[in-house]
Amino acid sequence: MTLPLAKFEEPRDQVNFYGLSRSALAALLDERVGMSRYRADQLFQWVYQKEVRDPEKMTNIKASDRERLQQLFFFPELGFQTRQISKDGTRKYLFSVSEDHQVESVMIKQPTRMTLCVSSQVGCALGCKFCRTGTMGLIRHLRADEILFQVLSVIEDARNFGDMFTNMVFMGMGEPLHNYDAVTGAIRILTDDFGLALSQRKITVSTVGLVPAIRRFLEEQIPANLAISLNATTNEIRSQIMPINRKHPIEELLGVLRDAKLAPRKRFTIEYVMLGGLNDTPEDLKRLSQLLRNLPCKINLIPYNDNAGLGYETPPSERVHQWQNELNSHGMTATIRWSKGQDIDAACGQLVTQSTKQKKSARLAMIDSVTP
Ligand code: SAH
Ligand code: SF4
Repeated sequence: MTLPLAKFEEPRDQVNFYGLSRSALAALLDERVGMSRYRADQLFQWVYQKEVRDPEKMTNIKASDRERLQQLFFFPELGFQTRQISKDGTRKYLFSVSEDHQVESVMIKQPTRMTLCVSSQVGCALGCKFCRTGTMGLIRHLRADEILFQVLSVIEDARNFGDMFTNMVFMGMGEPLHNYDAVTGAIRILTDDFGLALSQRKITVSTVGLVPAIRRFLEEQIPANLAISLNATTNEIRSQIMPINRKHPIEELLGVLRDAKLAPRKRFTIEYVMLGGLNDTPEDLKRLSQLLRNLPCKINLIPYNDNAGLGYETPPSERVHQWQNELNSHGMTATIRWSKGQDIDAACGQLVTQSTKQKKSARLAMIDSVTP
């Protein structure tokens, strides 16, 4: 289905409301409008909870202040460029971020819940070999307002289907911890009691394993769960399929997780993309249990999504189930994440939009410059 073009609006003289944290908003109100800081709480409630995005309608604010708010802020009109609906009910939304580039969000329908998967970058610098987004290279980071825009637009559209997401994951295009400030800024707005007030237990950031950024994320107690894409049990294979492993090998990655002081009942998610014949051997299974022993985590087994078309094999489903059973019998919690929305190219590793393909060497150079 194609709807009229909707896109993120370019920054202009006015301030885009959606990128502002409540404290940044309070400072701005104080400085530019001379309004008390507590007005930021009210504004957040109007915009995110009552969904009133026209200052004229904010009735508990006096007329002269409403006028100044109108001059100071703009609220990009929510919407998307296209929406596709899969046979399995999964919906994929395409958003324009500029003339040439788009990002995608996916609403994944599961029996008991609905997960919203959002993008954090246009493309990705990390170049994992099994991931189509990785073939794009990094085009640019999204801003916090652009991340919020995806969420707000999907919420609005979900009403047409009578549903709403129950969980949200940063597993769309891009490496969220490479775009740390925008992603954590968006999370703070999403979980703010005066904002969307989403539960921090319902938000997950998935990372390729940028160790210094993981450390910072944990130290700063960003209100979200962390999922780590481990995807191999030896440095040899991991470096082969995930170039970042040459910089931050497995021991260092799991080390930072082991050192973390997690809140009670909190666990990491360890993601493991199973690539048939490459990282799913019986030895891998043994090593995986050993590597994760005593780590507070659950494991997500993700059979390689062959639609990515990058030459790897999807493991037979018996093997995936065998891995799950074996891990569970060692006292771990392993779940299988079968691809959803494959018919509309919405599944893991398939997200790629029109853009200039970058040369491999340029991509690797970028990995070296990834600074958390
Ligand atoms: N950059 C982040 C989040 C986006 S990728 C990360 O790498 O974690 C989200 C998940 O999709 C990751 O666990 C990644 O390993 C997985 N993935 C990528 N390509 C895939 C493919 N072709 N099949 C299955 N999973 C894939
Ligand atoms: Fe980037 Fe994640 Fe894809 Fe790797 S798997 S290329 S980090 S999006």
